[in-house]
Amino acid sequence: MKEQESYFYNPFDYLAVDKRNIETLSKMNSLVHYARSNSHFYKTRLPLHKLNSLSELVGIPILTGQDLRENLPPHNQGFITQPLSDAYVFTSGGTTGDPKFTFYSNEELKNQAQLCSKGLFLPGIRSGSRVANMMNAGNLWASFTFVNKALELCGCLILPIAAQTGPEATVTFIRLFNVNAAVGIPSFFISLADYCEEHKITDVKIEIVATGGEQIYPDTKAYISKILGVKKFVSAGYSSNDTGLIGFNCEKLEGSIHHIHEDSVHIEIVNPDTGEPVEDGNPGKILVTCLNRYFMPLIRYDIGDMGRILNDTCDCGRQLKLLELQGRSDDTLIISGYNITPQVISSLISHFGEFSYHFQIVAEQKLGKDLLQVNIETKHEMEGKDREELAKHFLSYLLAEEKALHFLVDTRGTNMPVISVANPETLTRNPKTGKIKQVIDKRKV
Ligand SMILES: [Zn+2]
Repeated sequence: MKEQESYFYNPFDYLAVDKRNIETLSKMNSLVHYARSNSHFYKTRLPLHKLNSLSELVGIPILTGQDLRENLPPHNQGFITQPLSDAYVFTSGGTTGDPKFTFYSNEELKNQAQLCSKGLFLPGIRSGSRVANMMNAGNLWASFTFVNKALELCGCLILPIAAQTGPEATVTFIRLFNVNAAVGIPSFFISLADYCEEHKITDVKIEIVATGGEQIYPDTKAYISKILGVKKFVSAGYSSNDTGLIGFNCEKLEGSIHHIHEDSVHIEIVNPDTGEPVEDGNPGKILVTCLNRYFMPLIRYDIGDMGRILNDTCDCGRQLKLLELQGRSDDTLIISGYNITPQVISSLISHFGEFSYHFQIVAEQKLGKDLLQVNIETKHEMEGKDREELAKHFLSYLLAEEKALHFLVDTRGTNMPVISVANPETLTRNPKTGKIKQVIDKRKV
């Protein structure tokens, strides 16, 4: 085994599930004991006795984002178990824009880098790769820092360009160093592809694209591949600011199916309504316990995503469970009983050469009935009347393809969908992350 490969080899990954569970239970008990003894928040929330099995976790209350907001600095020290030093503070620039802080000791951040690097190395980023880090930098944002540290462990050449750098300079750097892999959020790669297409740039070819932070749909991938010559899309790791790395793509996986970093996190899938555990194979809400994070322990944290544990094993030979992500738990809009997801809209958009893949779907109420609005950016600047014309075409196409929606409009008084076509870079982006909030349900506000 080559030196680098042996660095990423972990015998734990190949253990049978009962053996892995013994290790996980032991880590869980250490964490629970520590959190109860050192964190004000957990003092009365955790059992005094040792857990005899992981199934007893169900007796511990689920942790919410609101719990974090209320019990972390600067408001409160509830979660924090150590002095605020030798540590990083990050803010989760979720698309809600509601600041929530998270803390990692320096040592914990090194562990995170190692987890992240495994998911970049195995699919092919390694010594000899020339890799652009196109995550968003600054603003207490974690991913740029995580990715740089992770890339160090992959042994590649690192170009810390960051998403805020304009497309012209980015293309220059890519050309100068013949970049052949890049890590960023899907929105960045859409914008880069739009730019290259508009300026007829054909020599920017990025073989491996690792994305995280947003969903990426098949039609979006096809578009980016066509322009940027991508041979492989991989996940930069399933992660969140609060929890750190949760899952990774091995050599055999691509996209939304991840191995769980079981030596670092314990995942439960529960019924979103009752909080009861669901059987493997069934979808539910993802709860995360970070087994190795003691600075700010997270036990049974509701990360806000839906997923399921697959009953399959992976061809790579690792026994680590496979988690299939199914999007944010609030990713589906229900319009008069009709379910619409960004994936549906992305697929329709692929039939319109004028549209970029920057879009959002919004649900609201008008005259007591549901209304679907779709906001889409064009690839290039267009006159207002041309955009209106496109909006009309898209509406006809939407109604022709989504017959159930058409039926509701015709027979149930559901409002006619409103399509708004906007010029490039005009939809509101989160200033920290550059992400467009893809699904907005105004009825919930
Ligand atoms: Zn695998």
